[in-house]
Amino acid sequence: MEYIQRKTLLYKTEVEYGDYTLNHIQGCSHGCLYPCYAYMMARRFGRAKSIEEWMEPKLVSNAIELLKKEIPKYKDKINSVHLCFTTDPFMYGYDEICNSSIEIIKLLNTNDIPCTALTKGILPKELDCTDKINSYGITLISLNESYRKKNEMNSAPYLERVNSLKYLHDKGFNTWVSIEPYPTPNILEQNFDDILNAICFVDKIIFGRLNYNKKVSEYKNYQDFYNNLVEKVIEYCEKTNKKYHIKDGTYKK
Ligand code: SF4
Repeated sequence: MEYIQRKTLLYKTEVEYGDYTLNHIQGCSHGCLYPCYAYMMARRFGRAKSIEEWMEPKLVSNAIELLKKEIPKYKDKINSVHLCFTTDPFMYGYDEICNSSIEIIKLLNTNDIPCTALTKGILPKELDCTDKINSYGITLISLNESYRKKNEMNSAPYLERVNSLKYLHDKGFNTWVSIEPYPTPNILEQNFDDILNAICFVDKIIFGRLNYNKKVSEYKNYQDFYNNLVEKVIEYCEKTNKKYHIKDGTYKK
């Protein structure tokens, strides 16, 4: 594992459902090929020259030190801190990254700051001793393991992800799922209901289309396809008393 130092960590994000966020890792071993927006930005701004370089994560070694300085400065403005928008806090097979994320969450919690976390790895069981003000999520866009191995090559198997989320749900945590970036049927033919059934216990669903991929627009009536799924998600969430968020640009009339 390589290490880097940063000058700052906490910042207010422009991402539509985010408040404050931090990224204490540069790069992501999961190597998603949809493409990964974080990788596209890293390449544009010179933080990664190739996907191979992006997939060698570098951990920020002074993250705790920075947070101790920044928390008092931002505390009154923060509603929650999200880990992470440009990397994965529970990268599959990287215990050091997982431990660093848990330490960060605990530090924020001791300052009464709730955290949200989203992963394509496994949510560690050790999160069960964090504060119940946190909410934990996984990304789940399919249950098809062949699709995962091809498009999210080093991420955790889907059912392992779901089971780790269910464990935290059973421990009383608020849980959520991000069904994004959802592929069109010309990319992957699958039954959307199977995904909803797999995560039926969660408190919130985020749904979003696949962007920056030419194959989407090659699918005839792709907008109708996404509109129908949005309607389905809303109806399902209203019926099962879940919160939901539809990502900008997914539904268009
Ligand atoms: S898990 Fe997220 S950050 Fe990591 S490669 Fe996949 S899309 Fe990019």
